[in-house]
Amino acid sequence: MSEALVIIGNGMAAARLVEELSSKALGRYAIAVVGEEPALAYNRVLLSSVLAGDIDKGEIDLKPAPWWRAHGVTLRYGCKASAIDAARKVVKLADGKNVPYSKLVIATGSRALSLPLPGVDLAGVHTFRDISDVEQLARLGADRKRVVVIGGGLLGLEAAYGLVKRGAHVTLAHVMDRLMERQLDADGGALLARLVERKGVRVLLNASATRIHGQRTVQAVEFRDGSILDADAVVFAVGVKPNVDLAREAGLATNRGVLVDDALMTNLEGVFALGECAEHRGVCYGLVEPAYEQARVLAANLAGRTASYAGSIVATNLKVSGVGVFSAGDFMGGEGAQRILYSDARTGAYKKLVIDNDRLVGAVLIGDTGAALSYLDLIRGGVDVGSSRDELMFGDLAELRKAA
Ligand SMILES: Cc1cc2nc3c(=O)[nH]c(=O)nc-3n(C[C@H](O)[C@H](O)[C@H](O)COP(=O)(O)OP(=O)(O)OC[C@H]3O[C@@H](n4cnc5c(N)ncnc54)[C@H](O)[C@@H]3O)c2cc1C
Repeated sequence: MSEALVIIGNGMAAARLVEELSSKALGRYAIAVVGEEPALAYNRVLLSSVLAGDIDKGEIDLKPAPWWRAHGVTLRYGCKASAIDAARKVVKLADGKNVPYSKLVIATGSRALSLPLPGVDLAGVHTFRDISDVEQLARLGADRKRVVVIGGGLLGLEAAYGLVKRGAHVTLAHVMDRLMERQLDADGGALLARLVERKGVRVLLNASATRIHGQRTVQAVEFRDGSILDADAVVFAVGVKPNVDLAREAGLATNRGVLVDDALMTNLEGVFALGECAEHRGVCYGLVEPAYEQARVLAANLAGRTASYAGSIVATNLKVSGVGVFSAGDFMGGEGAQRILYSDARTGAYKKLVIDNDRLVGAVLIGDTGAALSYLDLIRGGVDVGSSRDELMFGDLAELRKAA
């Protein structure tokens, strides 16, 4: 008889795990997925494109309903897991039902953070994490509202760009002196700000919001320098917090995320975690690629093989507000590292390669990101590029890549 495997969370990590299991451990498990959102698992990354109106929300399901049925997965969506009784091996649902398990996977992702500012509870304050957020933001655009997006990282830029495309008047306020400071150096950030402004987003840097004004709804945002910006709505894009309460209350070891070892197992035998809610070797990843790598390893372990996850080298490779941006590895470069730079503000092209000990250790591309994956292979492969530096910047990278 199949063993009962319950997955809490119906997001991207959970969907990929089921897909991996369906090929690696066919029939071994009777899988039940419990998801709070009232929808089939969807591609969260594409919410930016839905907000921008480039695709329809009906196009982002990761798998159609018949796929789940065909793979024998019991889906309970629109249904929150409220507790885990680890002693009795039962997941309790908010509707009062109990789901017994033999093995349990926690894939509860993260939630979007707001800043604890006066006025944060006013109507018109939003975040950008799920499909219902997108529906509300799209309405702001349709109503031509004045929106202040707080946060100049990836999500803030995507929210700002999508809102502008929907018709809103958008100011992006970022507390740092450059956009996407975790992925870009100063020159790259400055170029991105110019390109984003060309798309219709007003960018304010060194702008620390201190208060949201309004009676019942948002009327303005005040900044540390005393300036006040009239606004009808605010969107916070200031980071995420892994959803670990359920795990912590069940007695699992947690820090920022649910602590897992190289097998993705928690401190409880038979209970695993992956995706944004998991913390591995001190790192909680906020990107989908590490979640997919974890899903591959966890599925192999659940299939009875021995697989180990050693962490992920994260790279950002996306269209940010319609502009190609790639960043990977140590893009600042430590002492002794050499930097090769190409920058053309007129065409909006920027390229920075960081080399240390004849190895490519970091790269930033803005504009044309066609070579991104080649650079990522070279970084991950630790390839000796000492004699090929000319090739590296503008040449054909195929030969170099073969050595990766
Ligand atoms: C707008 C946007 C754009 C993004 N763009 C990119 C990008 O370009 N590249 C990239 O790599 N990453 C991007 N990300 C991040 C990426 O979406 C996440 O890394 C990925 O979704 C993580 O997958 P996950 O399964 O761990 O979490 P999630 O996809 O968040 O899924 C977790 C699910 O668990 C559910 N859940 C939580 N608690 C419970 C409970 N108690 N009971 C039942 N269900 C529960 C949640 O409702 C949610 O549906 C983006 C995110 C957003 C919001």
